[in-house]
Amino acid sequence: MFKILKKTAQTGLVTIGYPQAPARVSDQFRGAPRFDFAAWGNGSGARAAADACPTGAIAIRDSEHSRHVTVDYGLCIYCGECAAADSSGAVQMTRQFELAAIDRRNLVVTAEYALAAEGSQGELKKLHHGYWPLEEEEPARLEREARSRIHQVLGRSLAIRQVDAGSCNGCEAEIAALNNPIYDLERFGIHFVASPRHADMLLVTGPVTRNMELALKKAYRATPEPRVVVAVGACGISGGIFGRNYATLGGVDQVVPVDVFIPGCPPRPHALLHGILLAVGRMEQKGLPQ
Ligand code: SF4
Repeated sequence: MFKILKKTAQTGLVTIGYPQAPARVSDQFRGAPRFDFAAWGNGSGARAAADACPTGAIAIRDSEHSRHVTVDYGLCIYCGECAAADSSGAVQMTRQFELAAIDRRNLVVTAEYALAAEGSQGELKKLHHGYWPLEEEEPARLEREARSRIHQVLGRSLAIRQVDAGSCNGCEAEIAALNNPIYDLERFGIHFVASPRHADMLLVTGPVTRNMELALKKAYRATPEPRVVVAVGACGISGGIFGRNYATLGGVDQVVPVDVFIPGCPPRPHALLHGILLAVGRMEQKGLPQ
């Protein structure tokens, strides 16, 4: 007993301060790529990066006088292939991970370029940015609001049921880390439950295999209102590297309505925490339990 108390005193507090304090991530951590769309104008353009992208997150579409380059962070697995293939310096890998969005369209950035007659990419004409980059104080604000909202909306705590709809278990490993003393999800009054009937939120991973379609629908119907659904990771958002094929349906929103999308492959625990807190606000918008 004395040994345990001594060890506890020696170890001290290990729980991180995020989101009140900024997240500390290792120098080796690779987050989302950042694109300088203007640098892609009047040159070789986005072709090399798009050709290297394994998930089709960078797409090029030509119309009569314009070229549209679309970057979809919902498809991105943060692999860095685009940065390695692009020689213009327009792509840089960052350590950014707070990308969760309520609207799927906010994960998409579209740039429109002039298109020369011989097919080369001209200068940047228009840029439509989605959600990113976030305001710096966004995570801390979310946390403050979420604590009071959990109390206001639910009058108690928030219960999450995790549904694995065919993931590789990378996302599950990160979700499990939320319960350890470092991330300590319970400090927000948020905990995991075994049944969707006891849950307020479904946290769904995987591209949704056809074998899991019915199970996901049943879990959704069993969750009482106002339920929220959070799609986790590139697979949960869009099917990721699996996409839509004979075995997978291409994302959670193909089966049930999704309230919050958390990009990443897999999203690190900080990113999950950020998305879950965002989802608490969404729950309030959907109304109080009857
Ligand atoms: S990081 Fe990988 S998945 Fe994301 S846009 Fe670049 S090449 Fe595509």
